[in-house]
Amino acid sequence: EAKRDRQSVWRVYSEPMGLRAVSDIRLERDLRRAIENRELDVFYQPEVFLKSGRLYSFEALARWDHPTRGRIGPVDFIPLAEETGLIIPLGEYVLSEACRQMEIWNRLRPGLGDCTVSVNVSALQLRQRNFADRVLEALERNGLGPGQLQIEITESAAAADLEASMRTFSQLRELGVRIALDDFGTGYSSLSHLRKFPLDAVKLDRSFVSEVTEESKMYRVVASVIRLAHALDLEVIAEGVETEEQISTLRELGCDIGQGYWFARPMSGPKTLEVIGSWRDLNLLPGAG
Ligand code: C2E
Ligand code: MG
Ligand code: MG
Ligand code: MG
Repeated sequence: EAKRDRQSVWRVYSEPMGLRAVSDIRLERDLRRAIENRELDVFYQPEVFLKSGRLYSFEALARWDHPTRGRIGPVDFIPLAEETGLIIPLGEYVLSEACRQMEIWNRLRPGLGDCTVSVNVSALQLRQRNFADRVLEALERNGLGPGQLQIEITESAAAADLEASMRTFSQLRELGVRIALDDFGTGYSSLSHLRKFPLDAVKLDRSFVSEVTEESKMYRVVASVIRLAHALDLEVIAEGVETEEQISTLRELGCDIGQGYWFARPMSGPKTLEVIGSWRDLNLLPGAG
């Protein structure tokens, strides 16, 4: 308590509002330039079927190589991009780049089948009246079929404007694009959203996965979330899978898909192409044969 007081006093004196604004303005200017100059990178992380070890998707994750600050992760610039509206051009760039990559992988690695590329989308993008048209345009421009795209939206982003979400989700699904509810379990009133939104999958938040062991309370919680999702015909993707124990527990619970450092960290496009090439040779899953 005393510590918190000291910290907030310190903050008041050391970061007067003007200063903080200046550093934000600087970062905003840099980010705007980075988007224009294509300084943003997209990394990819596999989502993997837990039964077969087959590839389900590659999630596109934005990275920023800042000229003086080095590599900046999305938690440090996505919120700013959302506040400033820069998330619109940034999101379009990531979407287009992800479609372009996926089309290249299709060509160079035939047999990827219905593996998708997954793109994170923010609330502001979802609110654009023509968002579905923009998605279609990005698919067509890059020669990718809609069945090979998955859109990931957090529950809170989807809930921020229910009407816009429902409309856009329906339009996207009509195109054949898959929709996954991201960070599931961290937002509010999950059940009603799950029931109403037209969805294909839920991504169980990492905080659940990190605590799922056979003896834990989380085991029972995750078991019922998976049952609930299956009752609604949704696939379940577990985020942040880091250990073999988590994999066997999740498989035992009937979780469909996993993503996490245990399988692979997010990788550059070229590295991903390599990994796709050798994927079937990997003995991926404990007990999967
Ligand atoms: P997310 O969509 O939930 O993405 C998963 C995050 O978990 C990624 O962090 C990924 O690197 C990390 N992760 C994956 N496996 C593991 C694991 O086993 N252990 C741990 N500790 N972490 C793991 P990242 O790349 O830092 O991205 C953070 C968030 O930033 C994303 O969370 C997403 O909400 C947002 N984001 C990233 N790229 C974009 C984008 O292009 N557009 C939008 N709107 N948001 C983005
Ligand atoms: Mg995501
Ligand atoms: Mg997530
Ligand atoms: Mg997350």
